[in-house]
Amino acid sequence: MPSHEPVDAPALHPETLAVTLGRPAHEPGASMNVPVHLTSTYVADGEFGYGRFGNPSWTAFEQTLAALEGGPDASCVAFGSGMAAIAAVLDLVPTGGVVVAPRHSYTGTVSQLDDRAASGRLGVRYVDITDTAAVVAACEGAAMLWFESPTNPALELADIPALVVGAHAHGALVAVDNTFATPLLQRPLENGADLVVHSATKYISGHSDVVMGAVVAADPAFTAKLTATRTLTGAIPSALETFLALRGLRTLAVRLDRAQLNAQELVRRLAGHPALEEVRYPGFGAIVSIVVRGGAEPAEQLAASTRLWVHATSLGGVESTLERRRRWAAEAPTIPEGLVRLSVGIEHVDDLAADLLQALDALR
Ligand SMILES: *Cc1c(COP(=O)(O)O)cnc(C)c1O
Repeated sequence: MPSHEPVDAPALHPETLAVTLGRPAHEPGASMNVPVHLTSTYVADGEFGYGRFGNPSWTAFEQTLAALEGGPDASCVAFGSGMAAIAAVLDLVPTGGVVVAPRHSYTGTVSQLDDRAASGRLGVRYVDITDTAAVVAACEGAAMLWFESPTNPALELADIPALVVGAHAHGALVAVDNTFATPLLQRPLENGADLVVHSATKYISGHSDVVMGAVVAADPAFTAKLTATRTLTGAIPSALETFLALRGLRTLAVRLDRAQLNAQELVRRLAGHPALEEVRYPGFGAIVSIVVRGGAEPAEQLAASTRLWVHATSLGGVESTLERRRRWAAEAPTIPEGLVRLSVGIEHVDDLAADLLQALDALR
């Protein structure tokens, strides 16, 4: 069973850590932020050797996210995208090892798993992540339990503490994609998970202007392996994007507070709308999935007829976006044709509700 030291509770609140970490020391004349170092190399014998090995902006971002997730010092590794972070984590699975994963996962995750399974690199067992006993049973002989919670876009919840205990009892590592919840709403390492993965493209950056990923590992041996993978494969973020991701992270708490309040109010106002079969909301976070009556056609019509809500993929930005997920061929066939995923932003909720309701009313 993988073991690591218990993670210490941070002394400062996450809202404070997000603002104060990853900055130059408070010395006269010091800049407030770590500047963007656009350099491919460094003068020899210093902290950084080459642009693919390290950058001060990576370090500042990594220090902040590691603390927010409750990981040890220097336990975060930033990547060029969420997908690169996922690939590096799957590289921790030995050849022929089995990964247990939810059938409703981010489509890119399923594609990576299927691709590796097809080439014989690893085996995959898909599960219903809400069925804790079945997931734990599937972990027998597995190398890793991978999951998201809430799942994308079904918004199912996993019982994280129980799954960690069950997977570890079978000797499987536990990796959690925490993109939807963010470390402000859920810290899987504190539940005993081994690895936390982010698409920093989403809430962490928060302004739809960055593509980036990150992993936080409880065990420094994994951090070392992930760093080696990043260096060897070159799956590195740019200095500018890392700077922007940290800048976004500074305001995560206030963005998420507003977006979550908006989401909760929208769920109330959408409930029982005759054009909707279902409103799915896990009770926290700012993603809501609605199922439009009549399937694909009216759902596409809805996405095309909002004015404020932008019809676009991705999520977690300050602006509200929506999309019908089954428009992607890779989306699971068990996701309803009429499911439209809403990424609720920080605009005034009355404006968001009015725009969505006029588009829904027009479907009748
Ligand atoms: C977007 C997303 C990813 C992939 O991240 P990229 O930054 O687009 O590579 C992984 N997991 C979840 C839950 C996502 O929403």
